[in-house]
Amino acid sequence: MKVAITGGTGFIGQVVTNELIANGHQVFILTRNKANKQEKEQLYFVEWLKEGSFPEKELDGIDAIINLAGENLNSGRWTPDKREKIMDSRITATRETIRIINAMENKPEVLINGSAVGFYGTSFTKTFTESDDDPGEDFLADVVVRWEQEAMKAPSKTRVVCTRFGVVLDTDEGALQKMLLPFKLFVGGKLGTGEQWMSWVHIEDVAKALSYCIENKAIHGPVNITAPNPQKMKDFGKTLAHVLHRPFWAPVPSTLLHIGLGEMSVLVLDGQHVYPQKLIDNNYSFNHPDLQEAFEDLFKTES
Ligand code: NDP
Repeated sequence: MKVAITGGTGFIGQVVTNELIANGHQVFILTRNKANKQEKEQLYFVEWLKEGSFPEKELDGIDAIINLAGENLNSGRWTPDKREKIMDSRITATRETIRIINAMENKPEVLINGSAVGFYGTSFTKTFTESDDDPGEDFLADVVVRWEQEAMKAPSKTRVVCTRFGVVLDTDEGALQKMLLPFKLFVGGKLGTGEQWMSWVHIEDVAKALSYCIENKAIHGPVNITAPNPQKMKDFGKTLAHVLHRPFWAPVPSTLLHIGLGEMSVLVLDGQHVYPQKLIDNNYSFNHPDLQEAFEDLFKTES
C-alpha cells in the first residue's frame, strides 16, 4: 500500500511512519521543508504548502492519506497570535489536503484526518462517545469542529475518518514526557484538583488503530482513539509514581498552573472521559487497555 502523511515528521507521524514501513508499505511524508530529510527504502519526502509545490504529481495513485499537520499545541503560551496559528494551520493544511485529493486522477480510498477529543469540550461527569455530536464551547472544540468540517469536504470516492486522539503517551515526546521530570526529581504530585479526567492512549495503539481505520472499510466519520479506561488525573499521577517507584506529593494548585501556562492550562486542568465506542464496536483489540500495564511497557527500557 502507498500512504501519504502530512505532518509525518511530528511526534505521532514518525511512529505511524515506522509502523507502516515495518508492515511493508510505502510512505510519502508531506513536509514544509524537505532539506536535510533522509529518504530511505520505502520512505519519501514531498514538499507542500509552498508556492509552486504540487504534491499531487508525486502522489497520484496513493491508497490512503493521513493528515496530522498543524501548529504544535504545547509549545509556548496561547497568545492571540499562537491561537490564530493553531486554528489557521489546521484549516490550511486540511484544505490543501482536499485540494490535492481533488487534483488526483486516482484518488485515495481513505482520508484519515487527525483530530482531538477536545471536540467534546470538558466535563467532570459525562462520558463521551462518537454519538455525542454536540461539540464543546471552548477554543479547542471550535478548532476541532472547523478542522473536521474541512475534512468532510473530501470527494465522495474518498472515505473520511476523523481520528479524535486522546492524550498520546510516549516517554520521548508529548504530554507524558513533559510530566515526567517532576516525578523523576521526587516532587511529582497531582495537577489541580486531580478530579479532572484524562483520556489517554499508548502511542503503539495510536499507530495500530490508524492502520486499522485504513484497512477496515466499514469505519468512517469520527473515531475516538483513546484507551477504554480513562483515569482521573489524581489516579493517573498515582499510577505513574507507583510505576516509577517515586513518591506522590502535594498538589500543584490550579491558580499556579493558570499563571504558568495561561489558557493552555486547560490541557491539564480540565479533561473529558471519552470512550472508544466505534473501535470497540468494530472489534479493534487494544495492545494497552490498562494504564499501569501501559506505563510498565513504556518504561520497560528505562529500568
Ligand atoms: P506535532 O506537533 O509533533 O507534529 C505536527 C507536524 O505538523 C509537524 O511535524 C510539522 O511538520 C507540521 N506543522 C507544524 N506546524 C505547522 C504549521 N504551522 N503549518 C503546517 N504544518 C505544521 O504533532 P503530533 O504528532 O503530536 O500531533 C499530530 C496531530 O494530532 C496534531 O494536529 C495534534 O493537534 C493532534 N493531537 C495530538 C495529540 C497528542 O497527544 N500528541 C492529542 C490530540 C490531538 P513539518 O515541519 O514537516 O511540515
